[in-house]
Amino acid sequence: MNIPLVDIKAQFHRIGGDVRRAVDQVWAHGRFLMGPEITELETRLAERAGVRHCVTCSSGTDALLMALMAHEVGAGDAVFTTPFTFISSAEVVALLGATPVFVDIDPRTFNMDPEKFAAALHSVKRENRLRARGVIAVDLFGLPAEHGAIGGIAGGHGLFTLADAAQSFGATLHGKSATAQAHAAATSFYPTKPLAAAGDGGAVFTDDAGFAEKLRSIRVHGQGTDKYDNIRLGLTARLDTVQAAVLLCKLRVFDEELARREEIARRYTKQLNAKTGGAVQVPFVPPHCRSAWAQYSILCVNRDSVRRSLDAAGIGNAVYYKTCLHQMRVFAASGYAAGDFPAAEDCARRILSLPMHPYLQPQQVDRVADAVAQAVTETANGSNG
Ligand SMILES: *Cc1c(COP(=O)(O)O)cnc(C)c1O
Repeated sequence: MNIPLVDIKAQFHRIGGDVRRAVDQVWAHGRFLMGPEITELETRLAERAGVRHCVTCSSGTDALLMALMAHEVGAGDAVFTTPFTFISSAEVVALLGATPVFVDIDPRTFNMDPEKFAAALHSVKRENRLRARGVIAVDLFGLPAEHGAIGGIAGGHGLFTLADAAQSFGATLHGKSATAQAHAAATSFYPTKPLAAAGDGGAVFTDDAGFAEKLRSIRVHGQGTDKYDNIRLGLTARLDTVQAAVLLCKLRVFDEELARREEIARRYTKQLNAKTGGAVQVPFVPPHCRSAWAQYSILCVNRDSVRRSLDAAGIGNAVYYKTCLHQMRVFAASGYAAGDFPAAEDCARRILSLPMHPYLQPQQVDRVADAVAQAVTETANGSNG
């Protein structure tokens, strides 16, 4: 039996009946855009996220984009983020004509290193070519970034903070939700994220009422008091009512699923430490954090041959991320070179994500750990290149 990386069908098996009924209701009332499920979902999500306002939207990428638009980010602005993330974190900055400025990660957490952020901010200020405007700290694999330290540095220089919480809905830092750390947080409901829709979706969270109002306007073409009163440029970035109906069902089992993810992660770590004798680096969760475990990612040498062994054993695996953003062709003109972000580049060579979803069985976790241990030993002995 193969073990997939994520198993979307297992969840549907469990809540499929509820989802069908909820979707039927949307067909019955026919309000496919901004229907009552949207309002209900925004209320529930704000509660769960520990903030006053939630503005749902069409994707995690659009959530980030809308937040930057609300801050009126544009040409000549510098926005800091890491190069070890999904393209969206920097793409939205460049889309608005601003400049993504990359900051290396802490190789233990894969998240932005606050000291390196301070240094990068310093050099942007010293060069005085770009205006330092904001920072997007990413909660990679579900683990919150050091939002306290990053926010402290940003606040001291008048920068806004935006959390890329696409992978961390449900995570906490010092007992407080990951989505309630920065001035605003953007999350994604992409089908493989911890809280997932049956398609694209996203949301922005904030305590700032004026900011939320701006986001609601940007979500629908920069709308003012009515449909034909446009006061700024905006997007068509609403979440479909059908997706809100699906998400309301998913939210009911979310906390239980989160607990299962945590249990699975604990079992992986114990098994891998015992079976590989420390040959792989298991995820590090600082004592003040709880991860949402969007991914369970390890670092290993000979990563690509370990991958081939897992493939051969029918075990799902993935590499997030093989190429750092500063080395992508789309950002070739920004003048970065290999070696600029050594921690991110080293992780890109060694990172490997193992199957992770709430319905993974303990025996499956053990089988994956065994296969990893065997692959690591084989490759260490040189038999597999
Ligand atoms: C998934 C993801 C996004 C984008 O979310 P979409 O809903 O796919 O647009 C942004 N940032 C990170 C870190 C992600 O993992």
